[in-house]
Amino acid sequence: MNKISDLKPDEIRKAIWGLSQKRSRLQSRLSSPSAMIEGCIHKIYKKCGNPKCYCAIGKKHGPYWAISRKIEGRTKLTYVSNDNILKKAFAYKRYNKDLARLRKIDERLYSWLKVLRDKKTKAYEK
Ligand SMILES: [Zn+2]
Repeated sequence: MNKISDLKPDEIRKAIWGLSQKRSRLQSRLSSPSAMIEGCIHKIYKKCGNPKCYCAIGKKHGPYWAISRKIEGRTKLTYVSNDNILKKAFAYKRYNKDLARLRKIDERLYSWLKVLRDKKTKAYEK
């Protein structure tokens, strides 16, 4: 009883309902995005190059934050010192995660609905 096609239509409808609740919350969040900054966020630790510095043998300096972005096929890394900019970059990351989540939910809804269709469908033969 692990296959979803073994479930009763009511159980499937219940699952669909739960998914649509999730989907609706996600969609309303996605519908009013805050200001965002494009790119991937990187947390960077570095050695400073001074051989007498503690970083030469131990803990590196940082973390420093940077945003990378593809420009004409090359990755450009821009260091960020402003928290507000970083916040907007994280908002972009979260938004994309939510978009991916929405797509997954849609795929599941789609497959549940197909199961319902197949339960109600027979071949027509004379
Ligand atoms: Zn150092």
